Amino acid sequence: MSFDFDLFVIGAGSGGVRAARFAAGFGARVAVAESRYLGGTCVNVGCVPKKLLVYSAHFSEDFDQASGFGWTTEKPKFDWATLITNKDREIHRLNEVYRSLLANSGVTLMEGHARLIDPHTVEINGQQFRAANILVATGGWPHVPEIPGKELAITSNEAFFLKELPRRVLVVGGGYIAVEFASIFHGVGAETTLVYRGEKILRGFDESVRQHLHEELTKKGLTLEYNADIARIDKQADGSLQVTLKDGRKIATDCVFYATGRRPMLDNLGLENTAVSLDEKGFIKVDDEYRTTEPSILALGDVIGRVQLTPVALAEGMAVARRLFRPEEYRPVDYKMIPTAVFSLPNIGTVGLSEEEARNAGHHVAIFESRFRPMKLSFSASEEKTLMKLIVDIETDKVLGCHMVGPEAGEIIQGIAVALKAGATKRIFDDTIGIHPTSAEEFVTLRTPLPEK
Ligand code: FAD
Ligand code: NDP
Repeated sequence: MSFDFDLFVIGAGSGGVRAARFAAGFGARVAVAESRYLGGTCVNVGCVPKKLLVYSAHFSEDFDQASGFGWTTEKPKFDWATLITNKDREIHRLNEVYRSLLANSGVTLMEGHARLIDPHTVEINGQQFRAANILVATGGWPHVPEIPGKELAITSNEAFFLKELPRRVLVVGGGYIAVEFASIFHGVGAETTLVYRGEKILRGFDESVRQHLHEELTKKGLTLEYNADIARIDKQADGSLQVTLKDGRKIATDCVFYATGRRPMLDNLGLENTAVSLDEKGFIKVDDEYRTTEPSILALGDVIGRVQLTPVALAEGMAVARRLFRPEEYRPVDYKMIPTAVFSLPNIGTVGLSEEEARNAGHHVAIFESRFRPMKLSFSASEEKTLMKLIVDIETDKVLGCHMVGPEAGEIIQGIAVALKAGATKRIFDDTIGIHPTSAEEFVTLRTPLPEK
């Protein structure tokens, strides 16, 4: 059977581009199809523009803090349109970087919607191509629950392109995107309310982290409504929105932002023409080596719904390329100890087990915790505190988890993740000389565990 390509990748996002470039580098004939934007979610409506907006939001605090250090300016003014224009320019630059990365690695780029015709055939822009292997890397899409008035709400996709900053924003959800965007909107000056159906934001994160971030967001002036869910949204005569909660309360706002999870992007993909099957949550089912239930089709990244993070999609992309075209270099992706950051203000950085996970797994643990006021705030009225927490297995002395809420938590936890991956014990943390004066040194000077529970 003759094929046009050894690998046809559908989706030029984080995982698809990585798999395509590596495969081409190994000598395979590779095509990648992209229907929307080069670089996928992360580059266009995810990690990158989000972080740029977070930087912007943090400036309001920086201006306040600067005065204590002798710097005064006219009262700074914020202009949303400038931020969005500059963000768009940067994203456009990155799109072109992705275009040249693909071209330089010898990958054939096809821009358009790709559809599976059979297990070896993809149709795009009216043409059909046959490939020995097809990789589905189509990512995800925001999921908004069915409620009356849902068409009046926006998601992260639209938030990045708002023409104006709404005066009041109501954020729905308690996960990564909800807390990050609540911090962004509040930071740039919108009156921000977060409505979450559960008891506390960030279910699944360490309890001290959740509580600490809750307190910090509240101190900053965000309104957090728990055990609250939206029943309907109605447009008012003056153009504003009225949100009715299931308990009957009504909230007036100018923008309702839903961040209630993401579904796999399978729209008009033609999976029905193949034997690819889905798991119980609707994501593509794959085995440990990303093979779907159709032997010639693989899938990775957000569309398989394992860990929806860019570095994980990148690792999966490399694993797929190696397994297909450089099997002697194949290494499975290790899903243990994946560090992650939530770019709320303040940031969260975390790696390893939460205290609750460690206890539930049967570990006998010692907990080391520290809360302190960062030195940079010495001359300001800010009451912000940093939290650092280590979870240590008493029997083995291994550090099982490390959590931080505070400035640059992601930057700090990335280094700690290397130590935890290498199996560092508390003794190794204690024997490590700190870097003074930093916040990070606190992780190597935590001496006294909390009293046992
Ligand atoms: P994607 O990057 O989504 O790429 C899929 C691509 O496939 C898209 O470009 C899409 O247009 C294309 N496509 C879909 N269907 C077709 C078709 N039929 N034909 C052709 N092309 C198609 N992760 C982090 O690690 N750190 C962060 O800070 C972070 N922030 C985020 C913030 C937000 C607001 C969001 C939404 C996500 C964030 N993520 C973050 C998650 C991260 O963006 C995703 O995990 C990552 O992009 C997944 O990569 P992927 O390759 O699976 O899919
Ligand atoms: P998450 O899964 O993180 O959070 C979804 C939130 O919405 C949860 O609080 C959930 O509540 C709530 N929710 C779900 N369904 C409903 C519903 N029907 N009604 C009301 N509330 C609901 O999803 P996100 O959309 O925030 O982000 C998607 C993924 O993208 C993340 O999981 C993460 O992997 C990735 N991401 C990573 C970032 C980073 O690395 N910094 C940043 C942004 C996204 P409950 O907890 O009760 O289920």
